[in-house]
Amino acid sequence: MSMPLESVYQELILKHYRSSAHRGEVEQPDAVVAERNPLCGDDIFLTVRVRGGIVEDVRFSGHGCAISQAAASMMCDHAVGKSWDEIHRVADRFRELVQGNEEAARDRALGDMRALAGVSKLPRRVKCAMLAWDALAEAEKKVSHRDTEAQR
Ligand code: ZN
Repeated sequence: MSMPLESVYQELILKHYRSSAHRGEVEQPDAVVAERNPLCGDDIFLTVRVRGGIVEDVRFSGHGCAISQAAASMMCDHAVGKSWDEIHRVADRFRELVQGNEEAARDRALGDMRALAGVSKLPRRVKCAMLAWDALAEAEKKVSHRDTEAQR
């Protein structure tokens, strides 16, 4: 008997929620960001190390609902080894996914993150799913601000 698709997705979310390979802090972070979602009580603390315009490592810690923590773990999976441009593309696509775009829900480039497609039926949870991505965008701002300052 095959498992219904929905429960496969549940399993994936819980797997990321319970044990993420990306929990913790990176050494020598280039940016440190704390992001909060007061609507749900989710907290994400993100540390990011960037080398040559590539996100070399990103780790998170925090508390909150399964969606926020699983999405953070999945975000880290996707961000490591990517340029900011590549990250923007995935982040935009993921935002479309959680807002109910059916094309995005079929986009294999999103991988595990498609497990969060159901969030589109829970509009109040969109912020939970986007929290880690918002934190990463904030980290990018900090890094580019620092680099601009250094060039002066
Ligand atoms: Zn939440």
